[in-house]
Amino acid sequence: MHNYTNSKCIYKYDDNISIVNINEFLETIPIEYRDWAKRINSAILSSINFASSGFNTTPQEILTERESICRSCDQWDAKAINGTGRCKKCGCSTWAKLRMATERCPLGKWEAVSVEDSKK
Ligand code: SF4
Repeated sequence: MHNYTNSKCIYKYDDNISIVNINEFLETIPIEYRDWAKRINSAILSSINFASSGFNTTPQEILTERESICRSCDQWDAKAINGTGRCKKCGCSTWAKLRMATERCPLGKWEAVSVEDSKK
């Protein structure tokens, strides 16, 4: 299974779709749109990774641990997205991010769960 990271971006130009470095892509769009482009890119790649894993969700014990780490992190915005929370570092919904086994913290505070572990 290929695992896309947030350093990559799916880029469409003329009828070709390719995977490029996100920073190269961001240089091609106006600066005021770059934060939104990063967030959208991150959400798309997370969804692809989640789908390719067979939609494996985080086991309850690990979810509780991840939530605790995010709640004490200075990058967590508890009020964002109708009070469900957002990670300010990657821009993702923490509610969704925490529940996808394939996700990992952009600061390395918690890691992705292997497919085998998520099925325990
Ligand atoms: S995912 Fe990582 S950086 Fe983001 S809020 Fe959680 S612990 Fe902090």
